[in-house]
Amino acid sequence: MDYNSIVGQKHRSLKGKNIYLRPPGYDELEYIQWLWMDEETMKEVGRSISLSDEQIEKWYRRMVSPGSETDYYCLIFDLNDTPIGEISFHRYNAKAKTGQLNIKIAAVHRGKGYATEAIYLLLGYYFFEFGGQVMEDLIVLDNIAGQQLLLKFGFEHDSLVDDGFLVRMTKEKFRELYNEDEYFMRLAIDLAYQSRQNGEDPFGAVLVYDGMLMCQSEDKSLRLSDPTAHAEINVIREYCQSNKKISLEGFTLYSSTEPCVMCSGAIHWARISKVVFSVSQEMLWQSSGGHSKPKCNEILNMGRKKVAIVGPLLPDEGLEVYRGYEFVPKIKRHKMFF
Ligand SMILES: [Zn+2]
Repeated sequence: MDYNSIVGQKHRSLKGKNIYLRPPGYDELEYIQWLWMDEETMKEVGRSISLSDEQIEKWYRRMVSPGSETDYYCLIFDLNDTPIGEISFHRYNAKAKTGQLNIKIAAVHRGKGYATEAIYLLLGYYFFEFGGQVMEDLIVLDNIAGQQLLLKFGFEHDSLVDDGFLVRMTKEKFRELYNEDEYFMRLAIDLAYQSRQNGEDPFGAVLVYDGMLMCQSEDKSLRLSDPTAHAEINVIREYCQSNKKISLEGFTLYSSTEPCVMCSGAIHWARISKVVFSVSQEMLWQSSGGHSKPKCNEILNMGRKKVAIVGPLLPDEGLEVYRGYEFVPKIKRHKMFF
């Protein structure tokens, strides 16, 4: 079953280096029931839990589809698509912007660093996309491994609470400890994959302000019959038009591939402050056999106003999008869309 058809695009998968997270499909409830009943997995959290089919269906409607505004639940998968555990946040308080973390790695998959990566991905989503400010976890006192894991991750222990081991991570601390450029770049790369799947060229871009995702897009040139509808142009146009803005000063644009001449021009006119890219123009033309194109730095930093440029960032992951991809002229592909 295609989970996207059940839970919609807002529940896309969150991709990491060794694992990915996504909400479960209805046909994966059996795995969740198994996970909660597995004695070895559950003994640290207290005891195993057994739910009837009716109870688990009710749980699924509340947590996943249609879900709620206050909870977000994902299964964790390794890159062979094997489920290895679960991660979620609960009881989000929109006023205080706090949520409660839950993570369980099946006992057979522990000790491989999966938990740390899953927490990084979930917190990235929570702080950078969902809008949370504080994540807490009240860990049972006997679960020493769980306490150590979160302390090592950077959570702080609140010693005033004594009915459990309460740890807390703020968005500010998370941004200090972890590289948000990598989080947003993986999102841009993921959009490039989607773009390729949709029959467009493999490009994606996201627009970010103060550690918060503001807009995302893929290349839409063919389906819009618009040769200028590159991912970078799309995010600038969509965001500015829908927010009645003419300047994006202070914004960062993440692009799966170094912006072309046209997009660099648009970035200049939009007054974007920082550009981060994965695959450089040079890498692109070396792998595609095309001609050399100017670097975005040559266009963006010609004048007095300077734009910070970071890249290539995660170029191996960015280049993966092009594996086996052949650039066929758009004029030959365009008619397939209509
Ligand atoms: Zn472009």
